[in-house]
Amino acid sequence: MAKLYFRYGAMNSGKSTALLQAAYNYEERGQHVLLAKPVIDTKGADQIDSRLGVKRTVDFLIEPGDDLRALFAGHRARVRDRAEAALIPESAATGAAPDVACFLIDEAQFLTRDQVDDLLRIVVLDGIPVLAYGIRTDFQTQAFPGSRRLMELAHSLEELKTICRCGRKALFNARLVGGRFVFEGDQVAIDELTADRVTYESMCAECYLRESGGRLG
Ligand SMILES: [Zn+2]
Repeated sequence: MAKLYFRYGAMNSGKSTALLQAAYNYEERGQHVLLAKPVIDTKGADQIDSRLGVKRTVDFLIEPGDDLRALFAGHRARVRDRAEAALIPESAATGAAPDVACFLIDEAQFLTRDQVDDLLRIVVLDGIPVLAYGIRTDFQTQAFPGSRRLMELAHSLEELKTICRCGRKALFNARLVGGRFVFEGDQVAIDELTADRVTYESMCAECYLRESGGRLG
């Protein structure tokens, strides 16, 4: 039975690398996958960019207003038509109809609540497994809307771990502007959109609270 998986972590926990590896594992077995990401992340535009240097262009981008189930169905139909056309009639007759084996989503924290609801419908009603990868909380330790809904709906939650500068497991994402920690601002601030350079550091709760003077957003 298909399941909705949410694989979450702090920044730099290797989510994009894990996603690309999962896609590769399917394709190595001759199966088809679809890759997508929300458009709000301007860093890579339509690319999934792993820190190891592996890149891959997504099959489609998701706008905040998109009906995700309908959008997915359109791309799924394209995959099926293309795969069917590529098969010789004899093998098409013997094998099962080609279909999407898995739907993978990067930066899933930026999905809307409704779009995450659609992911569960794609899994349960359409029978396609969904692997969603994302960051759990923003720089003020608040859950992103997409991540909150995924925590509520996913059949399976898996934490991808990364290490704080002190060696403990990182939980939070502290924001730096021009190299200084900031604890106020918009939830989303991506480098190119701001005059000062915005960076993030994955931190454990102890180090975060020390830098924030005890604040939790
Ligand atoms: Zn620490």
